[in-house]
Amino acid sequence: MYWKTRTVADLEADLVAVEAKISQLRCEQHVLVNELDKAQAPQTDASRSMVEWVQAHLDVRTDTARDLVFAARRFKWNRDLYDRMVDGDATFDRTVAVVKLADAGATHGEVEESYRRDLAGVARMTARTRHVTPAVEREVFSDRFFTIQPNLDESRYRMWGEAPGIVGATIEKAIFARADQLRDVADGLPSSRGQRQLDALTAMALDSLDDISDGGSQASEGGHVTVFVDARRNDPSETAAEIEYGPRVGPNVLDQMLCTGRVQIVGLDNGAPVVVSRAARAIPPAIRHAVTRRDGVCVIDGCNSRYRLEPHHIQRFSDGGTHHPDNLATMCWYHHHVAVHGDGYRIDPQSPPLRRRLTRAGPTPDPEPP
Ligand SMILES: [Zn+2]
Ligand SMILES: [Zn+2]
Repeated sequence: MYWKTRTVADLEADLVAVEAKISQLRCEQHVLVNELDKAQAPQTDASRSMVEWVQAHLDVRTDTARDLVFAARRFKWNRDLYDRMVDGDATFDRTVAVVKLADAGATHGEVEESYRRDLAGVARMTARTRHVTPAVEREVFSDRFFTIQPNLDESRYRMWGEAPGIVGATIEKAIFARADQLRDVADGLPSSRGQRQLDALTAMALDSLDDISDGGSQASEGGHVTVFVDARRNDPSETAAEIEYGPRVGPNVLDQMLCTGRVQIVGLDNGAPVVVSRAARAIPPAIRHAVTRRDGVCVIDGCNSRYRLEPHHIQRFSDGGTHHPDNLATMCWYHHHVAVHGDGYRIDPQSPPLRRRLTRAGPTPDPEPP
C-alpha cells in the first residue's frame, strides 16, 4: 500500500498542488463570470445583482460569490496577478486579497511587498491604504445605529451598535475616562475592564437623567416605584419581583431599592393584591438628610467619594433592619450599588462607623448590626 509510506512532506506537496488546481479553475471561472457580467446575466432571471446571480447558480456562500465577481471585474487591469494564479504561484484567496490592495490605491512596490505577508497582513495593508472618500464617509455615517434589547422578562439587556470612527472614539474616550474615575474608588475590589466600563456607562446615564429632571437630590427621593411580589413565597432569597411597567428584579435589587427608599411593595396572591406596604418603607427624608450630613462622604475606608451619596441599611431592611440612623451608613454610588448590592459585599459591623470595611457575605447568618 504505497500511501502508507508517504511522508507528511509528500502529502503537503499534494495538498498545495490541489489548491493550485483550484486556483487555476477559479481563473477559468473569472473569465466566464466576466463574460456573463457583460451579457447582463442577472436580467435573465431577475437577480438583483451579479453577486446574487453567481450565488444562486453556483450554490456558494455570499462571500465566495462576492470575491468571484469582484476579481472577475478587475481581470483586465491586473493581468500579472492572474498570471501568477494561472501558474500556480498564488492562490485564489491571495489573488483576491492582492487585487483589493491594488484597488485601494497601493503602489506596485507595496503590492510586491504584500507577497511576503500572510493574508491577514495583506488585509491590514489594504485597510491602511484605502482612501476614505466622501461617499464612504456618508455611507458609514448613515449606517450608524445603537440598539438596546431586553430579554423576554427584561431581567437582562443586550446592547450593541456601530458608529463612524470619530463618534466611536468620542464615546470610548468618555467611557474610559469615567471608568478610570471608578477604578480609583474601586481600588482593591476585583472588577474586570468590561464590568467597569458598564458601571461607567450606568453612572453617566444616572447623571444624564438628573440633568433632564430637576437636579440630583430629587432623583433619590422622587416618586415611588411600585413593586409586585408573590405573597405566597416565604423564602426571601427566592423573591421574584416585578416593577410596575418595568423589568423583573431579584432580591438583591429589591434590597437596593429599599435602601434608596423609593419603593412601595404590593404582595400578590393569584394576581390579587393582599399586602400593600405603606410609603413608610422608604427612609424618611429627614433621616436621609441627617445621616448624609453626619457622615459627609462615603464611609468606606479609603474612599473619599461624594458621588451620589446614599444611606445603606447595614442590616438589610428585608432581614428586619430598621431606618434608625445607627443602622444606616452613607455610601457613594459605586460602593453602594456595585460593590454591595451588585457584587454582594457586606459592611463589616466590627469596623468603625467612619472607616467601614467591606467583607464577603458568607453562608452563615448575618452578624447583628452595631
Ligand atoms: Zn443599600
Ligand atoms: Zn465609596
